[in-house]
Amino acid sequence: MRCPFCGADDSKVIDSRLSTEGDAIRRRRSCVECKERFTTYETAELSLPRLIKSDKSRAVFDENKLRSGFLKALEKRPVSIDAIDTAVKGIVRQLIATGEREVESRLVGDWVMDALRELDEVAYVRFASVYRSFQDVNAFREVIEGMENRNKDKRED
Ligand SMILES: [Zn+2]
Repeated sequence: MRCPFCGADDSKVIDSRLSTEGDAIRRRRSCVECKERFTTYETAELSLPRLIKSDKSRAVFDENKLRSGFLKALEKRPVSIDAIDTAVKGIVRQLIATGEREVESRLVGDWVMDALRELDEVAYVRFASVYRSFQDVNAFREVIEGMENRNKDKRED
């Protein structure tokens, strides 16, 4: 973000918060060069940080993938679609509010586990121990898919 005082290209985010409507983000920034502080308003949609995966590759955050992860984790559990949507939106909000351009995907994974614990103890306990040894949302999804396959195997027995 260009500094309006000296024109330097680099600034640090000091504080970042979502507007009450949730559609814009207000950031306090400090110029790396001249140390002046200024405020920017950005469209929330454009502010979603990219995810840094455990192998250091970068991925675009995908809300639909996140939702399907929740749906799989909570399959056959007494949790409404509305509650799942609220959890997904909550995670998107947290992601925007970091004010970062990139965040570790394990951070998102931790939020997913927190949300899962709120939604359904059984689903949480089922996945927490397995997930904790992984560090990424994709690994989390693979665990869920793996469990699905195991369940299928059991039914075939
Ligand atoms: Zn400056």
